Amino acid sequence: MVIPTCGVVMLSSISVLFVEDSGVEKNKVLEALKKHFTIEIHALATTTDEFHELLTGRHWDLVVSEEYLSKTDVFEILDIINASGRNVPVFVFSAYSDVRGAVECIRRGASDFRTKDDIAGLIESVRNTLARKKGVKESGDDYEKELLIDIIEESRDLIFLMDEKSLKFRYVNRAVIEKTGYSFGELRNMTPVDLVRNISAEILRERLAGVAEGEQDKIVLFTELVSKDGEVHQSEATVQLVYRKNESMFYARLEDLSEKIRTHENAMRMMQVVEYSTSGIFVTERDGTVTYANPKLEKQTGFSGKDIIGSNIKVIKNVIEDSAEYDRIWSTVLSGRRWAGRTKSNTKGGGHVEVISFVSPIRNSKGEITNLAFFDEDATIANEMKMQLIHAQKMETLGELAGGIAHDFNNVLTAVGGFASVISRKLKDRKDLSYLADKLVELAESGRSLTQGLLGYSRKREQEFRIIEVDRIVRKVSDIISLVFPEDVVIDLETGCDGVRIKAIESQIEQILLNLANNAKDAMPDGGLLTVSTSKSASGKSVIIRIGDTGTGMPADVLANIFKPFFTTKSEGKGTGLGLAIVKDLMDSHGGKIACDSVLGHGTVFTLEFPLVDIDEISCAAATSDSLVKLDGCVVVVDDDPGVREGIETMLGEFGYRAASFDGFPSLHNKLEHLGEVSLAVIDMVLSDSGSMMAEEALLEKYKNLPIIYMTGYDDESLKAKGIDITGKIILKKPVFAHALLKMIAESVNEKAGRKG
Ligand code: ADP
Ligand code: MG
Repeated sequence: MVIPTCGVVMLSSISVLFVEDSGVEKNKVLEALKKHFTIEIHALATTTDEFHELLTGRHWDLVVSEEYLSKTDVFEILDIINASGRNVPVFVFSAYSDVRGAVECIRRGASDFRTKDDIAGLIESVRNTLARKKGVKESGDDYEKELLIDIIEESRDLIFLMDEKSLKFRYVNRAVIEKTGYSFGELRNMTPVDLVRNISAEILRERLAGVAEGEQDKIVLFTELVSKDGEVHQSEATVQLVYRKNESMFYARLEDLSEKIRTHENAMRMMQVVEYSTSGIFVTERDGTVTYANPKLEKQTGFSGKDIIGSNIKVIKNVIEDSAEYDRIWSTVLSGRRWAGRTKSNTKGGGHVEVISFVSPIRNSKGEITNLAFFDEDATIANEMKMQLIHAQKMETLGELAGGIAHDFNNVLTAVGGFASVISRKLKDRKDLSYLADKLVELAESGRSLTQGLLGYSRKREQEFRIIEVDRIVRKVSDIISLVFPEDVVIDLETGCDGVRIKAIESQIEQILLNLANNAKDAMPDGGLLTVSTSKSASGKSVIIRIGDTGTGMPADVLANIFKPFFTTKSEGKGTGLGLAIVKDLMDSHGGKIACDSVLGHGTVFTLEFPLVDIDEISCAAATSDSLVKLDGCVVVVDDDPGVREGIETMLGEFGYRAASFDGFPSLHNKLEHLGEVSLAVIDMVLSDSGSMMAEEALLEKYKNLPIIYMTGYDDESLKAKGIDITGKIILKKPVFAHALLKMIAESVNEKAGRKG
């Protein structure tokens, strides 16, 4: 590029940074400059911080600065420019003719020093300097230098220049200001000790001495940088000595370590997972050399890391017996896929164990497969779990089947109970016989509870909590077990809670007691004494039921596990290990507690504790006592089961009601015209021809406001599942017993009467 040697030097538009206390002073100079140059951009700095920000924010062609300002001075400005490495010409435009100041300014690199009365001199000086600079610039030097400076300025690493003696920061890049929250001006009065909490002044000087004396090129320090708001940044500082214009300074570069630390901590955590894993884990190179083994592998095989690291996989794996299998593992994993299957591991003692292996490729940062990782699961545990799963599924299937039978069985029981209650009434005068009939009713009712229990077991349905008398249930269960238990098991029942009630699901309490009694019986294969007792707790706030046996008792290690699902000491087919797990679960859902005391060789006592029901709930329940209402018309009964129909008909007859029964909607429909007065209908909710609704509609059309009782053998949830809405309906659960039917009749008739009136 040819530099014009004469005439006016043409300058493209220029950028000017002013350092002045007031805009008035700045504008005077600006106006003068504008007469000679095109000003592209101009700005005013009044403080050190403002100046630093403007200086590093963009390129400036020149700086025009007052000598002394209220918040800074030109010496500070020159220092910042020098430290930043930028090559910006600085023109000092002073209010005073200060010779010593002028000399100092030039010494520190200012281009010229002019007093404010010499504006023409300033312009001339600027013109000459810029023309010279333009020449230099086009030679390309400056461009590269500025590029480097910009890179430092933009760097995300924190960069500091420090005075070699005072250690004060001479220059910092923008990342420092952002990260620390301190302004440039504040930082210029600080040293590293003010910024870093883990290094004292003495230690810092000691460490830096090595660099200052040339013994070391650089030092690396771990630093905990504390920002202005107190946040700590763990970082690594590299410090070295740099020389600029005959003076030496420390140059420090800080790298934030938080990301690295996080990665490292994650790696450490992963390492622990691997170390404490319940799988035997080992890693090999591509050629099969073992590079890692976790402690669990030693438990599986007897080989510790020490024994096998560096050896070939053949030491751990029984490669010889099935080498084709190992070729397959290798080719699968090296092609980037996972391999899973059974393998045999050698044991240190010379034997074999079977394990289930999962083998995965491990890749390096370039994505190349460098290692293979083996995860070996104990096959025995897996086998056991499989057996348990099969068993649990078998139980579930049985439950389903039982559920199906239970439903039909309910219908049978309805008939049995119904007839028995009729017999009992007919034989009122023959106490010896009516007693037996009452027993039949009671047994049918027990059967109902049991079938309901089965239903509950087959689909985990929500059963209703009722207020029930503890002694009655305990008596009922011991009646049942005295019938079915072997004769050499003597049952001793002691009830001491007359009239005491708890809130419970009756069939579930029965299930609890039966499970405990069954275990007691199993513990007394040669017979013994089974004691069942009820009592109030000392506080009077709960009921205690005790079930004790004089059986084998349990050692501590069995006792510790009895409530765990699938824990059993009984032989295959005899024990499921579910009995006590279910008991525990049911006790929890009843808000109760269970404890077990056992003496090996002497026997076991289970103690159940249930909270008592408060008085209000009891009086509420008692208020709805049976009462016989008078019905003028007949009772229509619709059910497709002849046993149920007949049972209900008989019961109704006994109470003095007339019944007209039908096996479904068609037969009802046929006779509807000829039906006389009707006071009540009892309809099976789920007729097999789904005629329940039609029966209901037809009846309501003819007999407005007719009270209707719906019977069902299904629980609420199943009904909902069948899409049947039961809200607001009076539901009578099958099997139907005389007293329940009587109560429902009274309720439904009274309710309708109440609504009418
Ligand atoms: P299961 O009866 O199917 O084995 P349980 O959960 O009912 O399952 O009982 C778990 C284990 O607790 C039994 O196998 C037995 O070892 C022990 N156990 C339970 N009740 C008694 C008892 N009354 N006397 C001795 N051992 C008992
Ligand atoms: Mg059991």
